[in-house]
Amino acid sequence: MLYELQQIFHSIIKSLEVLYVIEGVKPCARILVFEDDLEKIIDFLMKNQLFFSLSDFKVLKQTIQSEFYSDKSIKIQKNALQKGHFFVYLSKTKNFAEKAKFLEENNEHKDLGLLLGYPECCCDFFVDNFDEKNTDLTLKILNNSDGLEFAFHTNIAARHFDVALLSHFPHRFDCKPSIEIAKNNLEAIKEYSKPLAAMFLGVLQSIVVYTIGEGVFLLRKCEKIGNEFIYGDILATEKSKLYFLISSNKRFGIINKTKFVVGDMIIDGPQYGVMLFT
Ligand SMILES: [Zn+2]
Repeated sequence: MLYELQQIFHSIIKSLEVLYVIEGVKPCARILVFEDDLEKIIDFLMKNQLFFSLSDFKVLKQTIQSEFYSDKSIKIQKNALQKGHFFVYLSKTKNFAEKAKFLEENNEHKDLGLLLGYPECCCDFFVDNFDEKNTDLTLKILNNSDGLEFAFHTNIAARHFDVALLSHFPHRFDCKPSIEIAKNNLEAIKEYSKPLAAMFLGVLQSIVVYTIGEGVFLLRKCEKIGNEFIYGDILATEKSKLYFLISSNKRFGIINKTKFVVGDMIIDGPQYGVMLFT
């Protein structure tokens, strides 16, 4: 089934959203679907006895790097000529799918988050921090978290590489209810594909260098030697200067949340966020 879903969505994260609903670990899901793919998806949902509703608008994506909860996008009319993405709300419970659509249309972000199964602490955090200018809350979450070493379950930076166990922004990286959700999701993945679960772990367990404007980097296969980490490889969203610096070195040091050392060079600034997921 997972394979079939991936053929339709071309995205692991989206496929898993549907799987979580089928498996009953998520009460309702909301996914963005390109309008040319709608027919295939609706077919799949009907075949699997899932209820769904479609947004009465479509959106043009402004960023292509992520399909996450709160991507920056512009709403347009559903019959506009320009092709766009629809929101598909799906659930095993009919009125959940309808209700999710209603809540989205009325900008009831908190109730929508709760209906999608997200913890209340995280829904409140989202409502307090999300706006047109702040659509990516990753650095805010880091700021709101104590320390900089966290369990891999809440590594939402990996979503940029189509890997994540959460589809919401946790209010902190050590948010307990979020970790519980991630654990349940991981169990569901394991039941369908052990290799996929193993691949997820290999990406989620990493040092994350999150930047505004210079890309997102995951340093994998890290080994701590003294105060430094030696890393095996790097996943990158951008081939920026910082990317070339990190990829041409193998040593990395973390000083604090916004300050780190690559090779012998110290990099520091509020536009950076560094965290370790183990
Ligand atoms: Zn939370």
